[in-house]
Amino acid sequence: MAEYEAVIGLETHIQLNTITKIFCSCKADSWEDPPNSNICPVCTGLPGVLPVMNKAVVEKAALLAAAMHAEIQPLSYFDRKNYFYPDLPKGYQISQYDMPLARGGYLDLPMPDGTTRPVTIEKLHVEEDAGKTKNEDGYRLIDFNRCGVPLVEMVTGPDLRSADEAAQYIIRLRQLLRWLEISEANMEKGHLRCDANVSIRPEGAQALFTKTEIKNVNSIVAVRDAIQTEIERQTREVEAGNEIEAWTLEWDEDSGVLRKMRSKETEADYRYFHEPDLLPIRVDEQWRADILAQLPELPLERRARFIEQYDLPEYDANILTEERSLSDYFENAAAAYAADPKRVSNWLMNDVLRMINDRDTKAGDLALIPEYLAEIIKLVDSGTVNTSTGKSLLEKVEDTGKSPSQIVVDEGLAQVSDEDSIRVICAEVIDENPEPVASYKGGKTSIIGWFVGQVMRKSQGKADPQMAKAMLEELLAE
Ligand SMILES: [Zn+2]
Repeated sequence: MAEYEAVIGLETHIQLNTITKIFCSCKADSWEDPPNSNICPVCTGLPGVLPVMNKAVVEKAALLAAAMHAEIQPLSYFDRKNYFYPDLPKGYQISQYDMPLARGGYLDLPMPDGTTRPVTIEKLHVEEDAGKTKNEDGYRLIDFNRCGVPLVEMVTGPDLRSADEAAQYIIRLRQLLRWLEISEANMEKGHLRCDANVSIRPEGAQALFTKTEIKNVNSIVAVRDAIQTEIERQTREVEAGNEIEAWTLEWDEDSGVLRKMRSKETEADYRYFHEPDLLPIRVDEQWRADILAQLPELPLERRARFIEQYDLPEYDANILTEERSLSDYFENAAAAYAADPKRVSNWLMNDVLRMINDRDTKAGDLALIPEYLAEIIKLVDSGTVNTSTGKSLLEKVEDTGKSPSQIVVDEGLAQVSDEDSIRVICAEVIDENPEPVASYKGGKTSIIGWFVGQVMRKSQGKADPQMAKAMLEELLAE
């Protein structure tokens, strides 16, 4: 039996997070707004109005192009893509065709074996979104809020080889969009939409069997499941000696089934022509330089630098560069701590990240600023507080916004490490618990931990546990 290889390309639509739409001053993001509440004569295509380009759209799209290593074009055009659909009130969509904003480019995809694979970009252009059609109670309802919302359309080459790789690409793209702060990239809200072209071929062969297209997969899990299901279906068909037909499929996430939308995809004649109501987009040297000045160090570069500069394991570097404000937080905390960065990473990944997730916030928005985290670790290092008090300080600082040292003073949290006080508490614990003392003396020395626990409780967590243990052993040996 022949082994088959999958060949996958992804087409994504990315909603840019501009305040206003691409050609009018209507609010761009209508999530949770009532239908048809953010519309005007321009975006609903009434006669006698003219579109005006929103510069922020070009800047955000060009930033993405630069991050994808694509060539930003000094001159590009808007084009009319003519088709007729109820949710497209103008009868055309303003898009870009043969002279798009950027050309070429790739996204580096980290592979499980530690290498990276460049996934090429075949198309990157800006366009306006269309409205939304909804069928309800036998009526067809149309919401024009989404008309004129700015999109970047980005299409990869057929470079992905499995459902997992396709999912990885979307994960990395989403990370990049958020990192650049140009899109919320929330798939459930439609900020990032994905269609997949899937075909297979016998391993080692060049020619492909016919491809199919899967439309509108709205989560990372759906991308992976829909593509995997389609690869398996195509493999079964080919092995049974059947032809694969050029279907367009729709993924039903609830039932995990692909449904046929239409059997034959005819290349529609969109009769493209340059949009006569808009000037071409001219990105001159100055504007280009201004845009590129906004380009931050990218996630994979930063990950490599974290491994190199801070001597972090790859695992840590991966997590700390998942999100930009988290990686800024780490660097600031490491600078404030000015000692072993791995120690900062441990506190951040274990305790601070849990707090960020529990409170559904971002590292950059914490009241526990990086300097306070460094201060808490130093308080533990110096023995001023023990580790568990240090951990409880994280929440206390976040709740009050006070500095850790201030809270230690206010609440009297400093560790008790003078011998006399601890000796008194240890003696009390021994006096009050004759039975455990007897079993300890009878040879069951493993219960020393229980005695330490009693001392910690009596001291309200402030005793130095090492000192308490040594003292108890000494007293119990008498
Ligand atoms: Zn409008």
